[in-house]
Amino acid sequence: MHGTAASGSQRCDCYTTMLDLVGRTPLIELPRLTRGIAPRVRVLAKLEGFNPGGSVKDRPAVWMLRDGLRSGALRPGKTIIDSTSGNTGIALAMAGAALGYPVELVMPANVSLERKRIVRAYGATVVFSDPLEGSDGAIRLCRERLSENPSRYFKPDQYFNPVNPQAHYESTGPEVWTATEGTVTHFVAGIGTGGTVMGTGRYLKERNAGVQVIAVEPDDPWHGLEGLKHMASSIVPGIYHENELDRKISVATDAAYEMVYQLGSEEGLVVGQSSGAALLAALQVAREIDEGVVVAIFPDFGERYLSTTFWFGWRDWRERNAARGGARARTG
Ligand code: PMP
Repeated sequence: MHGTAASGSQRCDCYTTMLDLVGRTPLIELPRLTRGIAPRVRVLAKLEGFNPGGSVKDRPAVWMLRDGLRSGALRPGKTIIDSTSGNTGIALAMAGAALGYPVELVMPANVSLERKRIVRAYGATVVFSDPLEGSDGAIRLCRERLSENPSRYFKPDQYFNPVNPQAHYESTGPEVWTATEGTVTHFVAGIGTGGTVMGTGRYLKERNAGVQVIAVEPDDPWHGLEGLKHMASSIVPGIYHENELDRKISVATDAAYEMVYQLGSEEGLVVGQSSGAALLAALQVAREIDEGVVVAIFPDFGERYLSTTFWFGWRDWRERNAARGGARARTG
């Protein structure tokens, strides 16, 4: 599936399509934000923003579409449809374009301008649902369109499709294992559909049953951590099996935001809110142990959230941080 391309008899050091660039994302140490952790503990962040569609969701999107092609459920004449305005929508728009299939995304009319523009840039059609009905309204409208014309569409169904965690079992898991040379002791990832934590966790536990698999979730239903689900108040995804986790850590929205602001100004890494949540949980785990390698998933970079309210709090944070003698003052 991945690798360098062969064109005729001539091999060239290049890739054939954008889909071949999915995965193989880097791990990075965060020297400033991990100050104070025991010397034999490492915290590593896996930067999923390096995927071509800009997020961790490229992996399941590509796997689910390829699975549809293999089974024949996705074939010429079909349109890929989904009701996600988030990273999955962008990933499906990217992968659908690269595979030559039309994509239709149903989203609430009030999603950010960046979202509408990026999926349109990938050639996807956007159908707007009532903004007052939120994401549930988009789900309902998507169902209606499907039931009116079932033979027209292919719906990947990330919440129930086992190929979603399978993508992580086959790619994210082996990448974490190989990059840490099998030394990973703790794996930390946020739960949206649960695909990342389930699939990666399953692979790592098969390699070493002692690896601790830790899911991160918002601490309240009205959180501001885009991409994450508060399980107790949500419809539980069919692919999510809590009994396979070793632990769940709840994270407060404000604390995760502060972590993101700090990552930007102290590590040179601007990421989305769910990466801040993952780091907060990873640091909590790291402080509890004397030795180990904690790997946290950073699902995307921050550009796609720059116009959202999340960044409105940055100035206040910076002032508070400066008053506390923040990192810049400390390091000169
Ligand atoms: N963070 C962000 C920003 C996401 O878009 C998602 C996917 N909804 C997640 C975390 C969680 O990933 P998963 O669906 O694999 O649980």
